[in-house]
Amino acid sequence: MTQARSPQRPPAPDRLPIAVVDNHCHLDIGREGAPAPSVQEALTLAAAVGVDRLVQIGCDRTSAAWTVGVVREHSRVLGGVAVHPNEAPRHAAAGELEQVWAEIEQHAAEPRIRVIGETGLDYYRTGPEGVGAQQESFRWHIDLAKRTGKALQIHDRDAHEDVMRILAEEGAPERVVMHCYSGDMQMARECVRRGYYLSFAGTVTFKNARELRNALAVTPLEHLLVETDAPYLTPSPHRGRVNAPYLVPLTVRAMADTLNVSVPALCRALSDNSERVYGPW
Ligand SMILES: [Zn+2]
Repeated sequence: MTQARSPQRPPAPDRLPIAVVDNHCHLDIGREGAPAPSVQEALTLAAAVGVDRLVQIGCDRTSAAWTVGVVREHSRVLGGVAVHPNEAPRHAAAGELEQVWAEIEQHAAEPRIRVIGETGLDYYRTGPEGVGAQQESFRWHIDLAKRTGKALQIHDRDAHEDVMRILAEEGAPERVVMHCYSGDMQMARECVRRGYYLSFAGTVTFKNARELRNALAVTPLEHLLVETDAPYLTPSPHRGRVNAPYLVPLTVRAMADTLNVSVPALCRALSDNSERVYGPW
């Protein structure tokens, strides 16, 4: 087998001094022709470097059902369910969006599903023809989070203004997480003012991400979370390879650097914030 077809797993980073949570990953998604590793393998690798709790996100029909099974079986995993913003227009065009919503609502009844998400807007991958369905679906998920008392995880790609506007119009649920935060400093301040949490992914470690690090630098510790969005967004120096929860320490250390706080202090905050948002594992 050639190297390209069988990419080697990046080496494990040094263990974190205090265990943290990967608050957004997709354990069921494989990449580059390779299947996803087993849930148990992902958990074992992560726990060995101080990432001992995860939030698994299932944001299509199949993945949401799979996520419910995983959170019942694994005590270290909580879950989130939603119709992804790029899926909503497709279901709407097929006349089945309401049916899919009903399925998601059923999955959300599972007590270890603590997140409605990822939902939100994606103007990068969906064109203008899909905006109506995306916004309608986003509003439906906001309402579901409020009715169920669960945290809301937002996917926002090139849609900052509309995401913030719609959250304000609908009235945000009590706990809102900006997954893979991608806004600037000004938006970070507004999110904090509204009481939202900002979850930083491997993107914050990228060389060209100065604006994102500026946003991180103005975010108080009490509003921070960390995630992989695995298998995507692998942190430096492994950008482009397959991501997994055990690589979270690379992002945590880069964040501590930017924030100019000690790694243990940041880990403590990330762990406490996660339990505050999602409840105990
Ligand atoms: Zn994701």
